[in-house]
Amino acid sequence: MSEQQAFDVVVIGAGPAGYHAAIRAAQLGLKTACIDAALGKDGKPALGGTCLRVGCIPSKALLDSSRQFWNLGHIFGEHGITTDNAKIDVATMVGRKDKIVKQFTGGIAALFKANKITPFYGFGQLQPGNVVKVKQHDGSEVELKGTNVIIAAGSDSIELPFAKFGEHIVDNVGALDFTEVPKRLGVIGAGVIGLELGSVWNRLGAKVTILEALPDFLSAADAEVAKVSAREFKKQGLDIQLGAKVSSTEVKADGVHVTYTDAKGEQTIVVDKLLVAVGRKAATRGLLADGTGVKVSERGQIEVDAHCHTGVNGVWAVGDCVRGPMLAHKGFEEGIAVAELIGGLPGHVNLDTIPWVIYTEPEIAWVGKTEEQLKAEGIPYKAGSFPFAAVGRAVAMAEPAGFVKVLAHAETDRVLGMHLVGANVSELVHEGVLTMEFSGSADDLARICHAHPSLSEAVHDAAMAVSKRAIHKAN
Ligand code: FAD
Ligand code: NAD
Repeated sequence: MSEQQAFDVVVIGAGPAGYHAAIRAAQLGLKTACIDAALGKDGKPALGGTCLRVGCIPSKALLDSSRQFWNLGHIFGEHGITTDNAKIDVATMVGRKDKIVKQFTGGIAALFKANKITPFYGFGQLQPGNVVKVKQHDGSEVELKGTNVIIAAGSDSIELPFAKFGEHIVDNVGALDFTEVPKRLGVIGAGVIGLELGSVWNRLGAKVTILEALPDFLSAADAEVAKVSAREFKKQGLDIQLGAKVSSTEVKADGVHVTYTDAKGEQTIVVDKLLVAVGRKAATRGLLADGTGVKVSERGQIEVDAHCHTGVNGVWAVGDCVRGPMLAHKGFEEGIAVAELIGGLPGHVNLDTIPWVIYTEPEIAWVGKTEEQLKAEGIPYKAGSFPFAAVGRAVAMAEPAGFVKVLAHAETDRVLGMHLVGANVSELVHEGVLTMEFSGSADDLARICHAHPSLSEAVHDAAMAVSKRAIHKAN
C-alpha cells in the first residue's frame, strides 16, 4: 500500500492547461501538485505538454527556419540581395528546434520550483474520492488526495486504421524530426497541422501533396480567406487535392503507396514520407478508474459545464480533453479560470472570443463568426475589408498578399468577427479580440488612431470600410 499525500489541488497533466492551472492555484496560496507522464527526446521528464514538446513551439521554430530559407530563394532577390548555393542543414535546423524545446520545458520546471508546486513524474489515474494514483517512472506508486483535482490530460493524434504510424507514416512527432528533406511528402488532412508542417517541408524543397477528404478548403475559415490562402499556397507549390478519400496505404521499397478516390476516380501516389494530420482526440485512456463518476462523451472528451466542472464534487477538467477548440491559449485560460474558481475568485472563459491562427505564409487568423455563419444564423451584418496591397508597410515589406475583413451587426455596429490573411496577422487579430471582449463597434475601431506606416492600418481601414468611409480605397 503506497503512502497518501494530501494537497489542496492535484493537477493531472502539465501541458498549457495544466501548468497554468497549477501555477495560478499556487499563486493563490493553494498547496498544489502536478503530475505529468511525458518524456522528452532525451528520455527525461519534460513538462509543457504537446504544446512545448511536439506542438506549438517546435512547429513554429521549424516554420521560422524554413521561412528564412524560402525567403532567401524567393523574396530576398526583390530587395537586391542574392546568394549562390543556399543550403539547408536539416540537423542544425532540428537541433535549434530541440534547444528551444529544452529551454521552454525546463522553464516550466523552474516555474514549478519558484511557485512551490510539487511535480510528480509518471502516469496518474483518478480514483473515486478525489484520489489520484501515480505510477512513477521509477516503478514506484504514490497516492495523492486532492481537495480539488483538475484533469488536464490533453490530446493525442488520431491514427487511421489503414495508415499505422511507423518510420514512413508519421504524425506531428515524426514530421518535426525528419533527418532529411523528404523528396516527396504526402499529407492526409488539409487542416492546421497539414498546412503548417506541409509548408515547412515544401519550403525546404519537398514535393508536398495534401489529400483532404472534404470538398471545401479550410471550411472552418471565412470563405474569402480560404480562397485567397488556397491561391497563395498553390503559388508556393503546395498541391492540395480536395474531396480526396484515402482508402489504403502500403509501405513498399519505393515509398509509401497512398490510394485515394476523388471526383476523377481511384488514384495512387507514391511518397517517401506520409504525415497523417486528421485531427486529435482527448487523451483519456487509462485516466479514470471505475466509479469516479466523471463522464466521458461519445467523442471521448470529459464532460464539463461552462465552468469546466465535471459534476463530481471537486473534480474539474480543462484544455484539449474537454469540449471547445483544441488550442493552447484556450487551455491557458481554462486552467487559470478553474484555479481562480477554486480560490474563490470569479474565473471565466469566453469561448466566443478565442482567436485562431494558422502560421502559414501568409498567416491566417480569425475571431468570432464568419459571414457564412452569420448568414446561416440569420444575423444581419455589414462587412468592411481592406487589402494589404494598399498598405504602405506591407508593400515595403514585400508582403502585399491578403486582407482584413471586419464584420459588424447591421443595426448595432457591434463587431461580430474579424478575418485576416496576410503578414503578421497572428498579432493583428487581437484588435478584433479586444474589440469583441469590450463589446466594441466597428466605429470604435475606426476612431482609434493606428500608427503609420504599420500593418495594423489594414484593420483601421477595414473598420472604416464597414460604414463605407475607408480612406485608401473606393467604397
Ligand atoms: P497537452 O498539451 O496535450 O498536455 C497534456 C499533458 O498531460 C501531456 O504532457 C501528457 O503527457 C500529460 N498526461 C496526459 N494524461 C496523463 C496522465 N493520466 N497522467 C500524467 N500525465 C498525463 N495550439 C495553439 O494554440 N497554437 C499553435 O500554434 C499550436 N500548434 C500546434 C502544433 C502541433 C503540431 C500540434 C500537435 C498542436 C498544436 N497546437 C497549437 C495545439 C496545442 O498543442 C494544444 O491545444 C495544447 O497543447 C493543449 O494543451 P493541454 O494542456 O490541454 O494538453
Ligand atoms: P484539423 O482538424 O485542423 O484538420 C484535420 C483535417 O483532416 C480536416 O480538414 C479534415 O477534414 C481532414 N480529414 C479528416 N479525416 C480525413 C481523412 N480520412 N482523409 C483526408 N482528410 C481527412 O486537425 P489537425 O491538423 O490534425 O490538427 C489538430 C488540432 O491541433 C487542430 O484542430 C488544432 O486545434 C490544433 N493545432 C493548432 C494549431 C494552431 O493553432 N496554429 C496548429 C496545429 C494544430
